[in-house]
Amino acid sequence: MNKRYLVALDQGTTSSRAVVFTPEGRPVSSAALEFKQHYPQLGWVEHDPDDILSTQVESLRAAVRKAGIDAREIAAIGITNQRETTLLWDRATGRPLHRAIVWQCRRTAQYVERLKQAGHADTIRQKTGLVPDAYFSGTKLQWLLDHLDARERAQRGELCFGTVDSYLAWHLVAGHPHVTDATNAGRTMLFNLNTQQWDNDLLAMMDIPRPLLPQVVDTARIIGMLEDDVLGTPIPVASLVGDQHAALFGQGCLEAGMVKNTYGTGCFMLMNTGSELRHSEAGLLSTMAWRLDGKPTYALEGSVFVGGAAIQWLRDELHLIDSAAQSEQMARSVPTSGDCYLVPAFTGLGAPHWDMYARGTLVGMTRGTSRAHIVRAALESIAYQSGDLLAAMAQDARQRPAQLRVDGGATANDFLMQFQADVMDLPILRPAVLETTALGAALLAGLAVGVYQNAAETAHGWQAERAFTPRMQAEDRAQALKGWKRAVDAARYWARQDA
Ligand code: ADP
Repeated sequence: MNKRYLVALDQGTTSSRAVVFTPEGRPVSSAALEFKQHYPQLGWVEHDPDDILSTQVESLRAAVRKAGIDAREIAAIGITNQRETTLLWDRATGRPLHRAIVWQCRRTAQYVERLKQAGHADTIRQKTGLVPDAYFSGTKLQWLLDHLDARERAQRGELCFGTVDSYLAWHLVAGHPHVTDATNAGRTMLFNLNTQQWDNDLLAMMDIPRPLLPQVVDTARIIGMLEDDVLGTPIPVASLVGDQHAALFGQGCLEAGMVKNTYGTGCFMLMNTGSELRHSEAGLLSTMAWRLDGKPTYALEGSVFVGGAAIQWLRDELHLIDSAAQSEQMARSVPTSGDCYLVPAFTGLGAPHWDMYARGTLVGMTRGTSRAHIVRAALESIAYQSGDLLAAMAQDARQRPAQLRVDGGATANDFLMQFQADVMDLPILRPAVLETTALGAALLAGLAVGVYQNAAETAHGWQAERAFTPRMQAEDRAQALKGWKRAVDAARYWARQDA
């Protein structure tokens, strides 16, 4: 049987997906299943590990069925996942000791405060590339061990810690390997980017017993064979990779200086910085892009908290539009935003402004301001915020990228894409395959099993569906950016009582 297809398991925050690809990177079929979110307290978020596993297995079976292929035609399976979400299970039985603590969960904010007060922030930054935060797995695992009083069992080697990639590999691969890949390890706040090892100082800081930890493997590597009962035949499981890293790979951003931005609820921008680990001066995170043959490639990462969510807000709270898609036609119905700026700092501002006291602000309105102007200003705000991230990255990397590759739901909006090109003064490339996260995991798995001879070959199938080239005059751009900067200034410090 000709083993030609590559399959990605894309385990996300709200759904588990599976996509079947041809070796050229064209999607053949996909299936997705949503699962329940648990909110046991304000600000707490959990997933049931059994839901994660069952929706992932069912979506895989459905995608293979829809493709109409024989499972024996699958060359390899790659796994990509929501990052940082933390699981703890029994090594003997595989049973979870608790629900998964999801990356969004804020229950360990106090733990992080304590680390900062003890003066560990700089050490954490230097070793992990991360700004200490409750997002990352370290304090979540610390909380689980405290809450379950499980340190002695952990010390005896009876328990396994893992992120979602690790949990899926343990349960889906024959022989129960306890592994994680370097990109996922890099989001735990326990892994040293410089040494590529779990770090004793960090483990001591969070009181984490070493026997809990998975073995860290390369991003593209055969972990083992899929358990026979999943698809009825053994298939190599050949990549584990965090979702944003998979998207960077799937976008073919394999050279230093190449950047991708994902426009979803929020926006996630990653820039490949090559073999050099760069520490940000602009408040971005340093992270691994991937690790191949033991060699790490690094990246800078920044995120916009409110991206497409600003459009949901126009639709669901202000009722200015009926659908997200309608925002485009409305924005185009006016020639400019009429000097209006919306800063959707609903939960503060992230990189490069880092102001948790900033709040949503709409400035520049006159008696002539219409619904269309406000809708347009909201779309423009997504582009301005992403532009600020790109500027910070270019400054940190001392390199201005030649283009930006984009994906995510809001890239369907041609107005937004053109405005993005205009304010960044950079060509925007929208690929033919928008499933870049799944594609990246599939390509990495293909690389591990020899479908491709080298990483560069995986990018041969990447194609732009459309390019948006900058059309704005330089003076107009300068004027627009000046206005945006003043609007951000107006939004800042608002929630600080003594401002
Ligand atoms: P996520 O993976 O974060 O759920 P998606 O990639 O599915 O996000 O994108 C959904 C987001 O994109 C929503 O916030 C929605 O408001 C926005 N969006 C979808 N279509 C459009 C559009 N045509 N114009 C602007 N925003 C859009």
